[in-house]
Amino acid sequence: MKRYNDLAPSLRTIMTPGPVEVDPRVLRAMSYPILGQFDPEFTGIMNETMEMLRLLFRTTNQWAYPVDGTSRSGLEAVLCSIIEPGDKVLVPIFGRFGYLLQEIAERCGAQVVVLEKEWGTVFEPEEIIRAMERERPAVVALVHGETSTGRLQPLAEIGQACRKQDVLLVVDAVATIGGVPVETDAWQLDAVIGGTQKCLSVPSGMSPLTYNDRIERKILSRKKTERGIAPPGEVFREGIVPVRSNYFDLGMLQDYWSPARLNHHTEATTMLYALREGLRLVLEEGLEERFARHILHERALMAGLYAMNLELYGDLACKLPVVACVLVPDGVSEEGVRRMLLEHFGIEIAGSFGPLKGKIWRIGTMGFSAREKNVLHFLGAFEAVLLRHGVQVPAGAGVQAALQVYGAVP
Ligand SMILES: *Cc1c(COP(=O)(O)O)cnc(C)c1O
Repeated sequence: MKRYNDLAPSLRTIMTPGPVEVDPRVLRAMSYPILGQFDPEFTGIMNETMEMLRLLFRTTNQWAYPVDGTSRSGLEAVLCSIIEPGDKVLVPIFGRFGYLLQEIAERCGAQVVVLEKEWGTVFEPEEIIRAMERERPAVVALVHGETSTGRLQPLAEIGQACRKQDVLLVVDAVATIGGVPVETDAWQLDAVIGGTQKCLSVPSGMSPLTYNDRIERKILSRKKTERGIAPPGEVFREGIVPVRSNYFDLGMLQDYWSPARLNHHTEATTMLYALREGLRLVLEEGLEERFARHILHERALMAGLYAMNLELYGDLACKLPVVACVLVPDGVSEEGVRRMLLEHFGIEIAGSFGPLKGKIWRIGTMGFSAREKNVLHFLGAFEAVLLRHGVQVPAGAGVQAALQVYGAVP
């Protein structure tokens, strides 16, 4: 019989836009014993997680809980729970993940109207507001931090306009939550979906989200509980269009996360331990302090890249603080550089997608990966690998510029 070796994953330095490195405290939390999902100890953990998520999302919303599945499961849960076939949905797109929102909305049967913006930039709020006035959508679905292009879309004015026009605003904050301010209530965002494996530094496999009573009203208006678990007396109402997905039906999921404890799916116990510990780390650090830390490491990384005379991709006025995009110099193999970084330095960075494939490198400084050690190791290694690939970067300049930002004095 074939023998399989012990699992022995290498200890990498991960500088991608996710998944990123995980604090050892989170890994330890994942080794704790399993609890039953209706055990009061476990429902206590669920309730604490909801409390911490409200602080993370900066909201007083009742509903703030994770959906089990990767980040797109949260996007899909919100969109399929509020979109009825034929509903008009406006999707402004400025990168790969905007197309994902379009794709999910189309699969929900929406009549999707897209606005496309050249990659590397973001929308002026007026462009979206004008399209809303023209198209009168029921829902606007928008990405906050677009990791494929490294851009950050301002949301406050769009939130205000959506509220005024009674449009539901759904925001993909997968890449920004826990790293860049996301003001659910202040910006009047109706539903916000976060991710775990980016700035929260928890493994992939859950999608924390929050939504307000405007979204809840829509969900309750089409509520249908699974036959075998519906409370006695609850009858299926004729004429409603129930959510197509059982797994992602927020009407049932919120009953599971409420004192009703509807027996829907089996909660991912170990992932919830991880999320709770990740959230505890975020709140111990402090949200403002955490955002400031991400800005510091962005500054050091950018100073290093500039000092190496590398060209950055995209409009810097709307740069996403947690991702830096570097243009691949002419004649250099984008993939070859990444391979050498990984093979010889154990450092992982990312390429990009679609029209940007082979054209840029993306360097993430997210969560636990956003550390001085990582930024300095990366810059030193990047210099060495670029020199090996024939790029004449000034030797030593990148690390020195970053050390300057970190205030390293003898
Ligand atoms: C990573 C990412 C996603 C998708 O997350 P998965 O966990 O891979 O499903 C969605 N939106 C944005 C902006 C992302 O960066």
